[in-house]
Amino acid sequence: MAHQWQGVIREYHERLPFGADDPVVTLGEGGTPLVPAPALSSRTGAKVYVKVEGMNPTGSFKDRGMTSAISQVLHSDAKIVACASTGNTSASAAAYAVAAGLSSAVILPAGKIAAGKLAQAIVHGANLVAVDGNFDDCLRIARELTANYPVALVNSVNPYRLQGQKTAAFEVVDALGDAPDIHVLPVGNAGNISAYWMGYCEYAGRTTAASMGRSATELAPVASKVPQMWGVQAWGAAPLVLGHPVEKPETVATAIRIGNPASWKLAEEARDDSQGWIDRVTDEEILAAQALLAAQVGVFIEPGSAASIAGLLKAAEAGKVPEGATIVCTVTGNGLKDTATALSGRDLDITPIEATTEAAARALDL
Ligand SMILES: *Cc1c(COP(=O)(O)O)cnc(C)c1O
Repeated sequence: MAHQWQGVIREYHERLPFGADDPVVTLGEGGTPLVPAPALSSRTGAKVYVKVEGMNPTGSFKDRGMTSAISQVLHSDAKIVACASTGNTSASAAAYAVAAGLSSAVILPAGKIAAGKLAQAIVHGANLVAVDGNFDDCLRIARELTANYPVALVNSVNPYRLQGQKTAAFEVVDALGDAPDIHVLPVGNAGNISAYWMGYCEYAGRTTAASMGRSATELAPVASKVPQMWGVQAWGAAPLVLGHPVEKPETVATAIRIGNPASWKLAEEARDDSQGWIDRVTDEEILAAQALLAAQVGVFIEPGSAASIAGLLKAAEAGKVPEGATIVCTVTGNGLKDTATALSGRDLDITPIEATTEAAARALDL
């Protein structure tokens, strides 16, 4: 029988705060592949999978939260949605605003957005405001704008964002048959780690501080356990590791270049209640992990996503990975969004050959 994935709200409507007749704005997000990563399994002694969130409609996990945030906006009078963004939130907000028939305004740190993400916001018709400041400045401005004008805020401080994002944890459990032992993911504004934790808890029949709508405890549990949550920040943007905000966050991984995460408290709850941890990795480790996943697993991810892989490898080197554990790493965004970073430092000088098969064979050392 013909079946098409319906997007996360319809697929998981029982566990989301929407009624059966509520309007749903979807581009078919979710249903992303959980890919075994033998190259990571052999390096860590665990059974490692990557949840490839770059397969979402705009190329990052942000679409899961945008379908729920923008569907909710249709219940308000707002005609404009606004967000601060390190790039992927604006790409997603702009696309879902189009699908909803709304306008979008995106507040970006000038010069700190990967070209692919900026292109997305532009082609989807967003109104762009570039701020001479960092993401944290942009979020402050977006919050103040939405407090004072008829504009709906769709950053992850909007609780509907986390509701949609928690569905990724449901999908992992649905694919594996139970929760993994450990879940590793990059941490920037800290919404995603909080959302996954909520999803895992709800599937195990528990609630978290972020839970809303129908209580998870009314539904039969799907998972028998919850994983440890391992969060990974960039070295120069690691407020949760340091225990205080970072005034001038710096990292090549622009998606996690955030000094004062909005979901700070929820992320600490996820870390502590799951008996996990949040660590940090250097830009070099991030870029090496990105290259490794591309060359040895076959999945091209953006630098922010590679923090999870780098964090797992660092933990393995420190002997912190339990032998045989089932581990899922979320890789949050598509490598095609930021090809400049992926190619920097590589030899791109490809000299053309004459147009014959022999010359091609010679060039290939065949
Ligand atoms: C937004 C984003 C992150 C960070 O997620 P938070 O919920 O802000 O912690 C990581 N990677 C990518 C690719 C992102 O777009």
